[in-house]
Amino acid sequence: MPLKVHPDIASLSPYVPGKPIEELQRELGLARVIKLASNENPLGPSPKALTALREGHETLHRYPDGGAFRLREALADRCKVTSDQVILGNGSDEILGLLARTFLAPGDEAVMADQTFVIYKMEVTAAHGKPVIVPLKQWKHDLPAMADAITDRTRLLFLCNPNNPTGTMVSAEEVERLLARVPAHVVVVFDEAYFEYVRSPQFPDSLAYVKQGRNVIVLRTFSKIYGLAGLRIGYGVATTEIVNFLNRLRPPFNANSLAQRAALAALGDDDHVARSRTVNAAGMEQVVKGLTDLGFAPIPSEANFIYVDIGRDGRTVFEALLREGLIVRHIEGPMVRVTVGLEEENREFLAALKRVLHSR
Ligand SMILES: *Cc1c(COP(=O)(O)O)cnc(C)c1O
Repeated sequence: MPLKVHPDIASLSPYVPGKPIEELQRELGLARVIKLASNENPLGPSPKALTALREGHETLHRYPDGGAFRLREALADRCKVTSDQVILGNGSDEILGLLARTFLAPGDEAVMADQTFVIYKMEVTAAHGKPVIVPLKQWKHDLPAMADAITDRTRLLFLCNPNNPTGTMVSAEEVERLLARVPAHVVVVFDEAYFEYVRSPQFPDSLAYVKQGRNVIVLRTFSKIYGLAGLRIGYGVATTEIVNFLNRLRPPFNANSLAQRAALAALGDDDHVARSRTVNAAGMEQVVKGLTDLGFAPIPSEANFIYVDIGRDGRTVFEALLREGLIVRHIEGPMVRVTVGLEEENREFLAALKRVLHSR
């Protein structure tokens, strides 16, 4: 029987996640596998989050608090906004989908970079919107060109900062100039999944724009520095008006009870976040130096991953690394993205890469 599927949906390809460790172990019979593919925190979650999870077992037969009172209060407190300016998602991925479905009528446009988080294009297309793709400039978002791409049909502009997969950042000054050119009918989405890792003092204070009442939303997540990717919880901070619209589509129990508890506890463990940053900074230096010694020129990154031109077909290198028990991410052509891991993981990655390059 011929199925009737909207061509926009039929045009999509399924998202390809980083290969799970167990999958590679099954496929190749490997005992030890190192995954540096999904920008996860190699230290894992805060011990406080793990304790909160054990306590959470007792109420698993109850539905979660659909309003997530305590977690939203804590996030509002942290961001210096009111709790009705905070929305939770089943990962910030879910909020990206809510944004597309809330703001895009069929044919409406969403401006985004050509090498950025692939979920934007997927969600915009799924909502029957039109992705308007703007090339990067020197691996960075080209904000003047993105402003030029805005039309009367534009409803969303995605700004991934630092950008995944390039690790590059746009500065407060650049963002200021962009916002001066963005009309009110466009919601600017600051996707800041990696902002806790940023060390540059030039990083924009995007929450200040929320507080000014501008049409922007700031998305952050517990999946990266907080080490809770498996629980699926992220959040958005915006004007009450934007949050109220998104809440019309938000599934009532989208943030599960364990995720709410663990996130709340994780938010209270600043030491773990600080430790994670320190480990990342040292690992970043180690991997950048290792790659440079091998003759590569990794793109300077503000996040917990590195984007590098591997000088030959990236897929072949990716597959050869898999056989060495190392999972990285092939993005396109010669470009490979590798997450910064623990010292020993980084060392093993660099050694495996060296073997792979020399065996050819
Ligand atoms: C990882 C990531 C997210 C969010 O992930 P969730 O696990 O859905 O919270 C969002 N944006 C970017 C750019 C990411 O890399």
